[in-house]
Amino acid sequence: QAKEQGKNKYQVFHTGMNMQSYRSFIMQNDLRKAIERNEFELVYQPRVNVVTGKVESAEVLLRWHHPSWGSVSPNEFIPIAEQTGLIVKIGDWVLRTVCQQVKRWQENDYNLVRIAINFSARQFMQKDFLSNIERILEETGVAAHLLEIELTESALLENEDFVINALHRLREIGIMISIDDFGTGYSSLQYLSRLPINILKIDRSFVQGIMDKSSENRSITTAVISLAKSLRLSVIAEGVETKQQLEFLGLHGCDEVQGYLFCKPVPQQRFEEMMLQGNGMVFDVKLQQEYKE
Ligand code: C2E
Ligand code: MG
Ligand code: MG
Ligand code: MG
Repeated sequence: QAKEQGKNKYQVFHTGMNMQSYRSFIMQNDLRKAIERNEFELVYQPRVNVVTGKVESAEVLLRWHHPSWGSVSPNEFIPIAEQTGLIVKIGDWVLRTVCQQVKRWQENDYNLVRIAINFSARQFMQKDFLSNIERILEETGVAAHLLEIELTESALLENEDFVINALHRLREIGIMISIDDFGTGYSSLQYLSRLPINILKIDRSFVQGIMDKSSENRSITTAVISLAKSLRLSVIAEGVETKQQLEFLGLHGCDEVQGYLFCKPVPQQRFEEMMLQGNGMVFDVKLQQEYKE
């Protein structure tokens, strides 16, 4: 009996493995055609100023609508795009499409917000990374201050001189730079203090643990906020889902929050409607009395 169960488990596990590699094999092939087939979509998630409720920036996130699987998570297809090098072409498409979008908003008097774009280490380390960005900015006529680049710590840990130079050039162009998923990587504080960056983004995993019994995630969160303050950087928390998390972050001086509590990433058209409201996008950040003190 026990042996039989063991055998079944093994089979399930084994079949699972095959399914997994079969799926990623198909995915590699289909990803190559996804741009031409128009299967990508960009969605936008507002970031909310903790004090005023105003939205001054938003993160753009990629969606892939696969013809037979439906929506595939970027957590699944981005790593494959990175491994195969396809991320360079896909990243170009994202940047160009965002710029065309922002250009239209510029021309049509929308209440503009800065758009933060995720970049993989692999893209950032391309030799023509900077000239490519400059060319796209020039071709589309987008103001550089309306763009922000989100990099993870892993991107910063590559060739140090290259990274520092590239970041300085981006700052000269006028593009903002943020460090995504901060706290999950291994960059040293000394190194960080030498980089011309603007924003630290506290990773969702810490935010999600703010109300834990154990104080670990609260300690990390407050440590990141005070680090940001002492380096004169802004700090944004991602994955904020509850009022308790918002209150904790607000009390400890976090500048902006992003998460389902306020708004999920929304399609372009919905985002435009939100931008056109009155004086721009504003969310209610007032906390219920019970959370104050
Ligand atoms: P990220 O850059 O850390 O993005 C934040 C992720 O958290 C997004 O997942 C977002 O939809 C999700 N999120 C936001 N608020 C909440 C919340 O309150 N609760 C929960 N549970 N999740 C929340 P998404 O869109 O699935 O993207 C996953 C990752 O894929 C991104 O993590 C980023 O690393 C990567 N990615 C997405 N778009 C692009 C892209 O255009 N280029 C590159 N290179 N990577 C991308
Ligand atoms: Mg991001
Ligand atoms: Mg993030
Ligand atoms: Mg994250």
